[in-house]
Amino acid sequence: MRENWHERFAESPDCLKSARRQQTTVPVLDFEIGGDEFVTMAGPCSVETESQLLATAGHVRRAGARILRGGAFKPRSSPYAFQGLGLKGLKMLSRAREESGLAIVTEVMSESDVPLVAEYADILQIGSRSMENYSLLEAAAHSGRPVLLKRGMVATIADLLRSAQCILDFGNPRVILCERGIRTFETSMRNTFDAAAIVLLKQVSHLPVIADPSHAAGHRELVPPLARIAVAAGADGLLVEVHPNPDKAWSDGEQSLDFTGFDSMMADLEPYLALRRLARHNSKLSLRETVESCSMEAVG
Ligand code: PEP
Ligand code: MN
Repeated sequence: MRENWHERFAESPDCLKSARRQQTTVPVLDFEIGGDEFVTMAGPCSVETESQLLATAGHVRRAGARILRGGAFKPRSSPYAFQGLGLKGLKMLSRAREESGLAIVTEVMSESDVPLVAEYADILQIGSRSMENYSLLEAAAHSGRPVLLKRGMVATIADLLRSAQCILDFGNPRVILCERGIRTFETSMRNTFDAAAIVLLKQVSHLPVIADPSHAAGHRELVPPLARIAVAAGADGLLVEVHPNPDKAWSDGEQSLDFTGFDSMMADLEPYLALRRLARHNSKLSLRETVESCSMEAVG
């Protein structure tokens, strides 16, 4: 029997596509997420120093990113790991926005920090470890800022959509979903990248979907191929960790791209993005016809 997704996700009715709502676009500065443009968010795992952040912002902007990521409040797996610069980090992010023109996405971990983080950020990131922190979801919703909601490490797609529904219920329609890998029995990668979740979410939900290949993979050499898979799966954008010197990063260096790596990831994405543009431009064409017209263009 054919799966009835509306029944399966019945607890998240407002996240689901309907005749009235096929796709939500979330405006940020002068562009939008969930529309025709594929939006790349890039930057370090943690904000460390002004020079680290400004160099990264300038570089990723020139390579085509629209949004600078960087954690000032860091949820860490170990209590002994670097916890983030807090307000000092937020001020650096704000300076980087001024200098680069990039929008800022940064994590907020506690409901009491929401007003402060919302003052500096264009998008509030709710991390995997917080996906089911309902008082945080409520506070983030009330801030009025768009919310990037990361899938919990052991959250099902239904769990993710339930948390998204909470944010909508609290009156904030600007929710962006993020697939960042889930825990499975596989141990050779940090997490298992659930590309099928992107495909399914794009089929059932009108909310924009962003892929985070960095936290999914845990190894930088896997990030560019997973990014290409994300485009093919229908993601609306990427969240990628980039650092001027990943081996010296204060957090997540192993999975961070250096500048050259980021440039080459962006260049290798281009044919996939061209195909995406073409497919969106003429949605009446089948994928095969789209590919054929691409190769005609290449030949001609
Ligand atoms: C991050 O984006 O740096 C982060 C901590 O992500 P996640 O919540 O997905 O682990
Ligand atoms: Mn990280």
